[in-house]
Amino acid sequence: MDRKDPLAEYREKRNFGKTPEPSGKPGPKHKNPVFVIQKHDASNLHYDFRLEVDGVLKSWAVPKGPSTDKSVKRLALPTEDHPADYADFEGVIPEGEYGAGTVMVWDIGPYRNLRAEKEDDPVSMPESVEDGKVEVWLEGEKLKGGYALIRTGKGKDSRWLLIKMDDEEADARRNPVSTEPESVISGRKLEEIQADEGEADG
Ligand code: MN
Repeated sequence: MDRKDPLAEYREKRNFGKTPEPSGKPGPKHKNPVFVIQKHDASNLHYDFRLEVDGVLKSWAVPKGPSTDKSVKRLALPTEDHPADYADFEGVIPEGEYGAGTVMVWDIGPYRNLRAEKEDDPVSMPESVEDGKVEVWLEGEKLKGGYALIRTGKGKDSRWLLIKMDDEEADARRNPVSTEPESVISGRKLEEIQADEGEADG
């Protein structure tokens, strides 16, 4: 059994004396696994899409954010596992620290692994991530329904795409990334989080 600490890279990148982010411990945190999408105003604004798997948050940075249109494919860049208690982290990572900038909980809720529900060939979440074929049903405030994360290509050309699956929640007319910019846990916009929690001299 591989006992390598899945959060070693997460901790290595951060100075917990300076950043307000949780230092975290692996282990189940939520009764039902959660997904979270954190809007992150770092050097480049992006949306961090995270899925709780085996007590940590598997993570991808989605530069353009998720779409509700099933014909849209959004690039998703894999990033290091985050601790489960990162899911409700909202605040300001100070300048000079890794990922410096404001973090907002843009959407959060429980999710289901759709591949585990297939009677003929059920696939667990860890296997799905390993396979490069994740299919989940999200129960968020802004996002609902099936979303697929698919790894295409090989080696250096390999990349992940986030795609809305074709179901009753797909809606090409919605664009929540631009029409619903507030935090689902505090109601604040990025500027308000920055003003509330940013350094006065920052
Ligand atoms: Mn980020």
